[in-house]
Amino acid sequence: MMSKIKSCALLGIDSYIVDTEIDISMGMVAFDIVGLPDSAVKESKERVRTAIRNSGFLFPQKRLTVNLAPADIRKEGPSFDLPIALGILCSSGVLDKDMFEDFAVTGELSLDGSVKPVNGVLSMVYESLSKGIKNIIVPFDNKNEAALVSGINIYPAKNLQEIINDFQNSTYSKKFYTSEKTEYEEETEYLDFADVKGQENVKRALEIAAAGRHNILIIGPPGSGKTMLAKRLPSIMPPLTFEESIDITKIYSVSGLLKDKGVLVTKRPFRAPHHTISPSALTGGGSIPKPGEISLAHNGVLFLDELPEFPRNVLEIMRQPLEDRTVTISRVNGKITYPSDFMLLAAMNPCPCGYYGYGDKCKCSENKIRQYLGRISGPLLDRIDINIEASPVNFNQISNTKKQESSEDIKKRVMKAHAIQAERYKDENILFNSQLSPNQIEKYCKLDDASLKFMKQAFEKMNLSARAYHKILKMARTAADLAGEENIKLEHLAEVIRYRNLDRKFLL
Ligand SMILES: [Zn+2]
Repeated sequence: MMSKIKSCALLGIDSYIVDTEIDISMGMVAFDIVGLPDSAVKESKERVRTAIRNSGFLFPQKRLTVNLAPADIRKEGPSFDLPIALGILCSSGVLDKDMFEDFAVTGELSLDGSVKPVNGVLSMVYESLSKGIKNIIVPFDNKNEAALVSGINIYPAKNLQEIINDFQNSTYSKKFYTSEKTEYEEETEYLDFADVKGQENVKRALEIAAAGRHNILIIGPPGSGKTMLAKRLPSIMPPLTFEESIDITKIYSVSGLLKDKGVLVTKRPFRAPHHTISPSALTGGGSIPKPGEISLAHNGVLFLDELPEFPRNVLEIMRQPLEDRTVTISRVNGKITYPSDFMLLAAMNPCPCGYYGYGDKCKCSENKIRQYLGRISGPLLDRIDINIEASPVNFNQISNTKKQESSEDIKKRVMKAHAIQAERYKDENILFNSQLSPNQIEKYCKLDDASLKFMKQAFEKMNLSARAYHKILKMARTAADLAGEENIKLEHLAEVIRYRNLDRKFLL
């Protein structure tokens, strides 16, 4: 007899429905799974067989064939255990054949028949709902994550025996789960800029960065507070929208990183991978593909401290994701795309010892400094609009008791600037000033005569490239938006031109 149970497989952070067809027929005793299963699916045979036996049922001594359809997409992970087991019990007559018609099923089985959590449940529940499936059986430990989606009944499964009891006695609907926490609550525990004394210029540069979504590089000697400042960037970015939260939660769910398997991620991600990170850990991939750091930083900040210490090949692979805001990983059986729309925040010392430009402490040769800076690839620097110098804090700043501006206040200005950009670019295919194309720069970054004169002088004096010129205009647009000005003024240019000065000081 044949039965069919709907299940879900992951592709990137999205899911698709897989039909688990189970046929039991007379003939030589066998148990085959077809439909491009990976090794985890093959191992599933042993788990399913033992779990059924240990739950007190006979495993059919017949010819048993499991087909996972569609066959042309690779299935990964152990989430097919439970649908296969339930299908076998339907095909062998323990449960009604059509019992699970309105259900999708996902879950890994232990040998004792208990159901273990799987990755990507949030995305599976979404997909099931969108395909009109009314109910879904998920592992008990994934129930809160599943309950983030409304409009579909969630049956949290503890073990095989209990599921069979509930479905044989038609009491399963009593177990349908809804989370108590239905309201969307934003988490607000960020580190605050009010705790950082001095460094006004860096704080302001970070404000510009957050307001126009400009990538930023902070250069300064050890002890200048680069990391302390960097960690506070998420605190001045707008609160996550519900949609942003869902997207991030899906990524963390697929990665198996949801902390208590259920609470929506409501804090902007701040990821700070070490410079020893491998290319695949940064972009994603692996034998069972998982999102990398640049996807875990989606809708948030990717912080690369000690930028020149990152191997060149690791930095190079970020170029495309920075452009596309998604990352595509090629695999034997096709491609996987993960979202990766993050703000890049990098920090570095000015030289190998760290003190070039600050007194006579630095003993690095010019050659060594060039080599050190040369490690950062040009194309990556091209995608960083702002570079700002963080100087060591002096005694006056440390002993200053004046209250520093809070992140909350800075965030208000940033959000106002976002609203202005959203309105201005509503008919363009962009959201932020940093995304302006050269044509759009001409349209939206017009300069008056005084500003033009100023830029001409700067262009010649600083030996600016066309690219640097465009970056200055984009940043000036953001400075004007923060000030609520319709047109870019001289003062905005004069401010943001300082955020390119480091090119000259360090990078030539
Ligand atoms: Zn040095």
